[in-house]
Amino acid sequence: MRIVDPANGQTLREMDEDTRETLTEKVSRARNAQRAWAARPFAERAEVLRRFRDRVTEQREELALTLTREVGKPIAQSRNELNALAGRIDFFLEHAAREIEDEVLLTAEAGGTEERIRHEPLGLVANVSAWNYPFFVGANVFVPALLTGNSVLYKPSEYATLTGLGIERALHESGVPRDVFVSVIGGGSVGAALIEQRVDGVFFTGSHATGTRIAQALAHRMIRVQLELGGKDPAYVCDDADPKHAAAATADGAFYNTGQSCCAVERLYVHQAIWEPFVRELEATVRGFAMGDPTDANTYIGPLARRELALATLDDQVADALHRGAKLLTGGRRADRPGFFFEPTVLVDVTHEMKVMRDESFGPVIGVMKVRSDEEARELMADTEYGLTAAVYSPSRARAEAILSTLDVGTAYWNCCDRVSPRLPWSGRGHSGIGCTLSTYGIEAFLKPKAYHLRAG
Ligand code: NAD
Repeated sequence: MRIVDPANGQTLREMDEDTRETLTEKVSRARNAQRAWAARPFAERAEVLRRFRDRVTEQREELALTLTREVGKPIAQSRNELNALAGRIDFFLEHAAREIEDEVLLTAEAGGTEERIRHEPLGLVANVSAWNYPFFVGANVFVPALLTGNSVLYKPSEYATLTGLGIERALHESGVPRDVFVSVIGGGSVGAALIEQRVDGVFFTGSHATGTRIAQALAHRMIRVQLELGGKDPAYVCDDADPKHAAAATADGAFYNTGQSCCAVERLYVHQAIWEPFVRELEATVRGFAMGDPTDANTYIGPLARRELALATLDDQVADALHRGAKLLTGGRRADRPGFFFEPTVLVDVTHEMKVMRDESFGPVIGVMKVRSDEEARELMADTEYGLTAAVYSPSRARAEAILSTLDVGTAYWNCCDRVSPRLPWSGRGHSGIGCTLSTYGIEAFLKPKAYHLRAG
């Protein structure tokens, strides 16, 4: 497997992928190690994860540079991801103890029956991860999984393998036993071979297409499956919103991480009353984005991690939109430089017949559509198979909530977007997936309840 720097196409490293034999050996090691890990007092596991948090903080610069080199994430954004990681780990450290505590629902009085719930770890879980936020989407799974006593087979994306190995090293240095957290190296076929193994849960982050394949492959297994998938997230700017603020915020929501976020704003609806000032501000903001070397701290738009695959998707979406009557305000083509860069692109006069308003772009492209009323905006926002997030910009909370409450999405934003909090559940609806990470729901996901009916005699 070749690991490539998407900023220039050069090979960073070549590595062997796991084979069926190495995979079987890893599965058996991780399975055997799980019971002893689960038997350790919670405080010991928590201490190990606390050390991991400190370790990634100490190694921030080195880890950020590795992420930037192999994924192309602008270095300032790689640092942001690592800075925010500590807060996520802290949330899990603070709440996991309560989630695993026994619950006594009925005490045994005078020969009666005690009723108790005990929370057991799932056992061995497979964590098949994406590359776009490898620290976040990885840690959303392996941190609560380890805290609750599971062992983990972790397959980083083939586009973020070096970062995955950095995570593994930091966990082992912090005291997670080598067989309790084991990385699996390779692309899609290795992922497919991994989920076929005797694991007790599969926690996947990636595209709807792969999620569907995984759901089909696991249908007969009756194990816990969580699928955190893609999105086509809308934002609506009402006529009473401040166009300058809304344009700056939604542009950042659309183009941060070079548009490669599951919850990136991918569709913008703007009330006709503020269409002109909004679009003017949006265009100016996007034209101001610095594209270039991702190791430069001033760069905001980097190369695309999935390289040719991503460029081909964006070429196709733009060509389809232009063919159907859309107009380009900015960008619309590959950048004239080495590496896998696409110019930040704003399309107007778009319709829902166009791929750019229906299929996930996962790149620096946004379609903007004029609407006449909240009802029209609401209907267009709801016209999607995805259901990850939706945003409304307006000074009126009541107006925003009236729209957001009717949408079938896991996350609703008023005057903000592209935001994730460890305290709140992160979940998709429809093609955006099933299951939940983060919040206390995202800890419960790694536990199974056992009901005890206990009589003394
Ligand atoms: P992907 O589906 O191509 O790959 C994800 C992972 O699955 C990789 O590790 C890959 O090697 C593995 N894989 C591929 N085929 C497999 C198979 N048949 N069986 C098992 N594993 C297989 O997605 P990606 O390009 O890594 O990530 C981008 C996608 O992830 C986007 O759609 C994005 O929206 C989504 N995403 C969602 C969230 C969320 O929380 N909802 C977060 C980040 C990314």
